[in-house]
Amino acid sequence: MQKIQNYINGQFENPINNEWLDNFCPADGEVYGQLPNSSKVDIENAYIAARSAFPIWSQTTIEERSRILIKISELLEANLQRFAEAESKDNGKPITLAMTVDIPRAASNFRFFGNAITQFSSESHESIGKHAINYTLRQPIGVVGCISPWNLPLYLFTWKIAPALAAGNCVVAKPSEITPMTAYLLGDICNEAGLPKGVLNIVHGLGTTTGQAIIEHPDIKAISFTGGTTTGAHIAKVAAPMFKKLSLELGGKNPNIIFSDCDYEDMLETTVRSSFSNQGQICLCGSRIFVEATIFEKFKTDFVKKVKALKVGHPSESSTNIGALVSKQHLSKVIDYLDIAIKEGANLLFGGKKVSVKGFENGYYLEPTVFEISTDECRINQEEVFGPVVTIMSFNTEDEVLQMANKVKYGLSATIWTNDLKRTMRLSTQIQAGIVWVNTWMLRDLRTPFGGIKDSGVGREGGFEALRFFTEAKNVCIKY
Ligand code: NAD
Repeated sequence: MQKIQNYINGQFENPINNEWLDNFCPADGEVYGQLPNSSKVDIENAYIAARSAFPIWSQTTIEERSRILIKISELLEANLQRFAEAESKDNGKPITLAMTVDIPRAASNFRFFGNAITQFSSESHESIGKHAINYTLRQPIGVVGCISPWNLPLYLFTWKIAPALAAGNCVVAKPSEITPMTAYLLGDICNEAGLPKGVLNIVHGLGTTTGQAIIEHPDIKAISFTGGTTTGAHIAKVAAPMFKKLSLELGGKNPNIIFSDCDYEDMLETTVRSSFSNQGQICLCGSRIFVEATIFEKFKTDFVKKVKALKVGHPSESSTNIGALVSKQHLSKVIDYLDIAIKEGANLLFGGKKVSVKGFENGYYLEPTVFEISTDECRINQEEVFGPVVTIMSFNTEDEVLQMANKVKYGLSATIWTNDLKRTMRLSTQIQAGIVWVNTWMLRDLRTPFGGIKDSGVGREGGFEALRFFTEAKNVCIKY
């Protein structure tokens, strides 16, 4: 059984209290490893290592920081297969997804921010008539905390760490206790790439203890967090009296709005993906599908036919479309929602049952599930399920669908399918979401701002937004 360790000051260490947590493989339900159940003391040690590394790292030239980050990216690419296998085993996601999305994107995060920092500029303003010049310094904050969830483990972990490091900060980071493996493997890669000791520290453990120690630490002055809305609210409350800078990327319940004038086949293929990729466990999945009444019956038939054809199977098989859900607890939460939906009168069109995969009967498999609903007020349409479950509902007018799209507490992303330019402009302006896709889904350009409004979060990641978050702006005014 593999025991993973914390990565502190460039070295791998057991937790001080020698306490461990079990790590389950979602595909077969077996414990296959252990991770540190780290305490406050481990976080303090990680903080001390980061603080000691900061004076040198923050003064390291941009070219050198960039070179090291790009080297990490290259090493991740060279180890693609090994990382993808680890990610798939730890999370239950199809290996094909880990090979084509998760790990390549983790590598891109380092490459992107390694390059972006060389282009990150600040402003200067001449105060004409006052004989003064102002310029803005963008200085690293110091030691920052990065906390990430289990659904896209290395992808989201590195999405925070890469800009933090690029901007000259030192980092204390905690991956999800449910999927710690690739974050652990990253330590070796950082050493090989020549990242100085203490610049990045990775501490494993539970959110309520290890994570809590990061957010409570008085000298970790910025926290970049991705996870659930309830956790985000808790972090905001703890951090507020210490005036920490916060970036909170939280839950979503995203509308997918389909008009009859769309490119139908493209929409259908993409809607299957936006509903069930990663077992529906992506914050951006479009779990609320609204279809214009004139094509509703056709869509219903075609969509359900495609969903029926998806193969639920062991994540390591290349033919698998839907792997295992991340944990037993999460599977049971999703199943509870199926019961709630039925009780509230939703019409089950397909799915809803656990799947027994031969040879892996204890794995956490669930059929992709489609409900038809007649009111958007039901819980299955309002609350984040975060599993392979979607609702479909018809609408008649643009105003009606806009109202329903906005009538949830979340505001992360939205997708619109139409070829009508004026409608595109009207809806994309009025939809309450941080990200709007038109005739596509999850097409990401890393230069663009990423984040949500309402209960989906505060702040933006991506591009220079991330570099701005991880720096303090200091204005200098010189009179001459
Ligand atoms: P979670 O909030 O339970 O945990 C996220 C991370 O926070 C984990 O590392 C956890 O250990 C840690 N944590 C928990 N309690 C903490 C505390 N008191 N102090 C500090 N850290 C703590 O979320 P999850 O179940 O891992 O992830 C699923 C959620 O993440 C969903 O709601 C999903 O929508 C959201 N998500 C959002 C985005 C986005 O970009 N907006 C992306 C992916 C996932």
